[in-house]
Amino acid sequence: MDHARLARETVDTLAPYLKELMDRQIPDPEAPLNKIEAFRLWRLIYPKIALRSGVIQAAKKIIEENSAGNRAALTHQLTQVYRTNEHIALEVMEIIRSHPRQEEEPTPQSRADYFFQPTSPGKEFSAEQVSCQVCGTKDETLRLVSYPYVVSLIIVTFRRVFQGVYCGKHANRYYFLAVFITMTIGWLGIPFGFLFTPLTLSSLLTVDKKLRPANAKLLLEIAKSRLETDERNAAAVYLKESLWLEDSEQARSLAKKLLPELGPAAQPSFTFQLTSLLFNFLTVWIMGFLIGLVDGVISLPLETGSENVSILVMVFSYLPLILLLFFGSYMAAHLSGETAQRVQLDSKWSGRIFTITLSLGVVYAIFTGKFLAINQMGSHLDPQNFLDSLFYYGGMIFNGGWQLILQIFVGKAPTYLLFLIFVLLGGVLFLWNLLDHITQSVQWQHSLDEITGSMAQESGTLAVLTTALLVLIFSLVFGTVFFLTS
Ligand SMILES: [Zn+2]
Repeated sequence: MDHARLARETVDTLAPYLKELMDRQIPDPEAPLNKIEAFRLWRLIYPKIALRSGVIQAAKKIIEENSAGNRAALTHQLTQVYRTNEHIALEVMEIIRSHPRQEEEPTPQSRADYFFQPTSPGKEFSAEQVSCQVCGTKDETLRLVSYPYVVSLIIVTFRRVFQGVYCGKHANRYYFLAVFITMTIGWLGIPFGFLFTPLTLSSLLTVDKKLRPANAKLLLEIAKSRLETDERNAAAVYLKESLWLEDSEQARSLAKKLLPELGPAAQPSFTFQLTSLLFNFLTVWIMGFLIGLVDGVISLPLETGSENVSILVMVFSYLPLILLLFFGSYMAAHLSGETAQRVQLDSKWSGRIFTITLSLGVVYAIFTGKFLAINQMGSHLDPQNFLDSLFYYGGMIFNGGWQLILQIFVGKAPTYLLFLIFVLLGGVLFLWNLLDHITQSVQWQHSLDEITGSMAQESGTLAVLTTALLVLIFSLVFGTVFFLTS
């Protein structure tokens, strides 16, 4: 598709009416056909372009002066929008191609047809049209997203941003991409790369949290529009998601209209809660284990090799670890927040205990994975039969963490000191991310209980305590076995 040409045609259609369109004035049914068409186009593209300040700036310039230069600037901006939003480009093309440029006298009926779904004045955007700008998905995972990243080329440093409405899948993808780009080539610039990289990384850690109120509003608007079209179950799904992001008066008043759909939800059984929590713990543990394993494999040649490794190589060898800690804590937090929702965790304290259990587990798992990688590759022991290797690897999986910690503190392994510091910082990152998501889920359950007026019979505390106790007993038993046999 020729996106530039499509953008030029769009700009030609929009230019005479831009002021009214920006003011969101709906044309009256007697308005000329071109104006109605411009309105229809604007309504289609507005949800996307409203998030790009470049497009809005260019549109404002045309209102000031409808010159060829200003129109070219807007065309350029719109081309980008169409390139990244293929489905919008297709819809725009359909509108433009189906109505040739020449003035024709329309019949009153065909004019009315243009308003396939009338928008009420004063609404900021037509919520029912908001969709993922990459794939066009419309579901409750939709989010306004703004992920900054840094690109450096030795003496120049660029700061860019992935911005727009994305579905859950694509938001994750662009988040990882932003972190990956920033961490690998962001800091390779003098002097701004060093300055902007940590700033960008810290804003990548907090940006989702900052956008929660805006996203709560977005999902609430979609919920309202779904209720208007009588899709009550869909409206309830959007409302619940909005409520997780932020509890507001608006959300509660809409919730009152959706009471039958909202609940009260069936109380999960203790067995379900316990298995969900244990499974969550196991998944996060394996995540940590893999982080340690991968880091061990990558950095092994440096740690066992020569003593005079340059600082730059050292720093480079830790990049994968930092990346993995970043991603791991992000994924673990999302996963555990969802688990907390599923088991209907309803007490702050049980949320905190679960968070601490997970964080301690993940730190230990990283040590274990690292130990396994080191000993697997520089293997001195060669297990003879299946039973031997079962004991050998089994022992390592449960005691590897302790062995590595002992090596660092008792043995002579100063190279691991930096590793230790990174893992502990990573543990703090996990703790912080997990606490945020789990607390959010606990508060959400609380609000939902209040709204639906259901009595919180069981807060999930018992299941959390049992999980923590099982994990503790398990590690104590295996820890003792290790210290007795070594
Ligand atoms: Zn998508």
